[in-house]
Amino acid sequence: MSDFGKTEKVELYVPDLEELRAVLKKGLDDNFAEVNVSVAECPDLTEKPFYFPVKGLCGSPRVTDVGGVPYLVPVAQKHKEYDMNAIAKELELPGAFMLGAGAVSSRVVGMNAELIPLVLTEAEGRPAVNSSYLSCIDAVDGQCLQQKYSQKFSDCNFGLLGNLYACEGRPGKVIEVHAKKRTGEYSIVTALRKTLEVEYPDKSLALGGSFIMQKGKAKIHIMPREFSVCPLDTNEEVNNWLKHFEVNAPLICQSVLVSTDPGLDLRVEHTHCFSHHGEGGHYYIDTTPDSVEYLGYFMPAEFIYRIDRPKGTHAVGRD
Ligand SMILES: [Zn+2]
Repeated sequence: MSDFGKTEKVELYVPDLEELRAVLKKGLDDNFAEVNVSVAECPDLTEKPFYFPVKGLCGSPRVTDVGGVPYLVPVAQKHKEYDMNAIAKELELPGAFMLGAGAVSSRVVGMNAELIPLVLTEAEGRPAVNSSYLSCIDAVDGQCLQQKYSQKFSDCNFGLLGNLYACEGRPGKVIEVHAKKRTGEYSIVTALRKTLEVEYPDKSLALGGSFIMQKGKAKIHIMPREFSVCPLDTNEEVNNWLKHFEVNAPLICQSVLVSTDPGLDLRVEHTHCFSHHGEGGHYYIDTTPDSVEYLGYFMPAEFIYRIDRPKGTHAVGRD
């Protein structure tokens, strides 16, 4: 566990859900042929296809940006490791449910890999429930290999970086997004973020949640099992090091996005996906705009916490 110094906390703008619904509908209409946004009851997330350890996305919603890409490139700082249980306490929400995108602890897993975190952190009288997935490069055939984290590892550590949405995991009202046929250049995540950036130019808003890519294919990457021996100094070098794949729906994607960075050196969007057919990783965008279909559930976060912000920073590798 790194000693991560003082956490920075910023209050975010939280419109009421009805206002947010109208704003997102209008923005998504520019990027998708068919859009329906509603304020709806969160579906039971313990059920198919999610199988999360909690029922909903509600209760004290907040997001955090932990560590960062500067701990991965140019040279990996493998000692950078975080415990989800400690992070939940740092977010002033011990026992929180957390989802999002990160990297595994290479010390625990024995290699580098993408982490798809889905963790109900420990609370008094209740152990943590780790329902995360990891996605790595298969050592035999070089293909994508997704595994259920909890079957192999009992702790809740991750490494280097993480973008997480945290809440009490309660049922309640959420923003439900249904979008079909992509007509614009943005991914659904970027389209949501840009919509908020344009509508609220002098405010910072964050959304966290989960969406299902129900049809089509998507572009993802997976980090290699070994960290790069050579320093990775440019986006091109990072992209050459990463392994890229086209994967199939249905994908269950966990997303954290922030409309504008309130001066915290954030990764403003980050999405990792898993599936029940063995494919998962870092989600970029669908590659089948004509046939793609999304169904998502999001909540606006009340606070953002910046944990262990890198002192030496750069803009490489944040896509
Ligand atoms: Zn990622």
